[in-house]
Amino acid sequence: MSPGAGTPAPSPAAPGPAAAVLISPIGAPPRLVDPHEAHVSLEDQGLTRGDGVFETLHVLDGTAYKLDAHLVRLGHSAGTAQLPAPSADAWREALATALAAAGPGARDPSADLGAEHTVKLSISRGVPGDQPWAWLTVAPVPKRTFAARRTGVSVVLLERGHDPAEDTGLPWLLPGVKTLSYAVNMAAVRYAHAHGAQDAVFMTSTDHRILEGATSSVVCARHDDGAAPTLLTPEPSRGVLPGTSQARIFDAARERGWAVDYGPLYPEDLFAASAVWLTSSVRLAVPVTSVDGRPVASDPQLTRTLTDFLLGRPGR
Ligand code: PLP
Repeated sequence: MSPGAGTPAPSPAAPGPAAAVLISPIGAPPRLVDPHEAHVSLEDQGLTRGDGVFETLHVLDGTAYKLDAHLVRLGHSAGTAQLPAPSADAWREALATALAAAGPGARDPSADLGAEHTVKLSISRGVPGDQPWAWLTVAPVPKRTFAARRTGVSVVLLERGHDPAEDTGLPWLLPGVKTLSYAVNMAAVRYAHAHGAQDAVFMTSTDHRILEGATSSVVCARHDDGAAPTLLTPEPSRGVLPGTSQARIFDAARERGWAVDYGPLYPEDLFAASAVWLTSSVRLAVPVTSVDGRPVASDPQLTRTLTDFLLGRPGR
């Protein structure tokens, strides 16, 4: 790692993050840096091998949502990958420093929830022979995220090749770890775009069991009888990333007395559902409009309720 010497001077017109803080090496005090300077060595193993872990979280009007859950998952990811992690206090200090330096965020024109930022916490193994390090960036939420919330997304189902549940006892395969190696996830999204869809959902190759979105969890609602829906998601323990958004939605739903259930889910369950969402920290609950070109039902009122669950707001 070669920290840049530039004075922090975020330019609102420049693309990329609005603020950045380094914790380098891990254990050192968080240090605000110029987000438009280079801070990574060409030998860094986070860059050359994707050897590191990360979290993406949502900040609304200066409040980081589900910060504790993200730090727990980051700690699990780092521990499994045998990487050190900054303390929760160091991350909180880094976040406060970066938010104070970042611009005003972006507002969702259709929902106007407040000023929104996306925050990334990353840990890299660093340059061979040197120490691991961490960094945090703050950026305004992109317009395409607001569009996805408003219009929903079409998805294609893509086979995952093998059942990730088989990886659960094999720590060297880093099951349930959010590594920096997202090349496969990004390739799946590109494949979806090339085939006329906006996002991808993975399923097992053998029995087409639904797993997760390329960068999201899958949640659907079923109305068995009565007014309250049952929320369903694939089992988080079976090799998919346990989503903090899905967990928050299920906790709030349980508090309301709704039933929640964990997979297995198959494509037919998505077509039979009263609504299907991709859930993730910054996008929140994005309605799925079609699966493999076939429309699925949506429920705008329920989407608002799930969004309120995520934001800890009283139901609309
Ligand atoms: N699954 C994958 C593969 C992801 O990349 C993400 C988020 O990036 C999620 C699920 C949803 O996680 P969360 O709700 O904690 O953002």
